[in-house]
Amino acid sequence: MRYYLGVDMGGTKVAAHGIDLEGKPLECDWRVVDALVSEGPRRTVSQMIVALQAVMDAAGIGWDDVAAVGLDTPGPADIDGTLHYSANLHSQPEWQGFGIRAALETAIGDLIGRPMQVTYDNDGNAAAHWEAHLLDPKGEKIVVLLAPGTGIGGGVVVHGDLLRGARGMAAELGHIRIPHNPFLKGMGILQCGCGKLGCAEAYASKAALENNLLPQILRRPEYADHPLQSIPDPAKRAYEVRTLAGNGDSLCRKLFLYQAERLGELGVQVANVLDPSVIVIGGGFIEGTPELTEAVMERIRDSFKREAFAKHGDPALGVEIVTASSGDRAGALGAALSAMKAH
Ligand SMILES: [Zn+2]
Repeated sequence: MRYYLGVDMGGTKVAAHGIDLEGKPLECDWRVVDALVSEGPRRTVSQMIVALQAVMDAAGIGWDDVAAVGLDTPGPADIDGTLHYSANLHSQPEWQGFGIRAALETAIGDLIGRPMQVTYDNDGNAAAHWEAHLLDPKGEKIVVLLAPGTGIGGGVVVHGDLLRGARGMAAELGHIRIPHNPFLKGMGILQCGCGKLGCAEAYASKAALENNLLPQILRRPEYADHPLQSIPDPAKRAYEVRTLAGNGDSLCRKLFLYQAERLGELGVQVANVLDPSVIVIGGGFIEGTPELTEAVMERIRDSFKREAFAKHGDPALGVEIVTASSGDRAGALGAALSAMKAH
């Protein structure tokens, strides 16, 4: 019983990784398989077992060495891992109301012939748990993760403990409303995937580019010849913004820096509630060229400082704003950490 494993389920992939009793990652790298969500939740649970088995094989361990397993998925879900509406999964009705944590626990128990505890977290929370563990192993700080990817993932860790909330709904940070600062003159308040107006996610995420910003911008005559016009698929077009921004395209760069400013404003809202020690910026947003990431981080810090209370914005004693260090692996590792803490 020397290891804790974690499974991170996304809209398309399932990843597995693990940690030892000291909270250090397995020496092998994570394993990633297709989630096969369109084939229904039971199929995805079997894929989780495939991923777990693959990482155990790579690490040279067996189920006898595993003390507990953690699982994370996109939310929203109950604190016990019963899924509600999800933007990634909503087209599959059998996913709604599915108790995914319990299903994985049963599947592992049936496979190995003994009970195996499975814990559950929202994906942003799991990633925050891991990033906070790396930054603050002794649990002395208040750490917030803001991770803009498709939406904005987030999490809050207070003195080493993940803040899950009363119903597992804590730290839906992307749905905090921010001041309306339009990218183009005349642009109205932007609508979020959750249906509300003005959420940070509606301004600073890949979904924001895809659904809100690019459709309005590319209609303008001055951008008629922009390279993005040649990409008809809206999702691919939004994805391409980061590459073009890294290559110096002026519109794409402006868009990235615009989104960075909105993140700084979101950071201010979060700081006003939590007075954090550190805000960690993760997600695909900081996975462009190093030069772009640096420019983006600087813009986030400037925007934060401009709007924050003096104590929060103080360069020496205020809120530190840093980049995340584990990328996509943070989810599975954070889920494993939750399993360790609950065991
Ligand atoms: Zn929202």
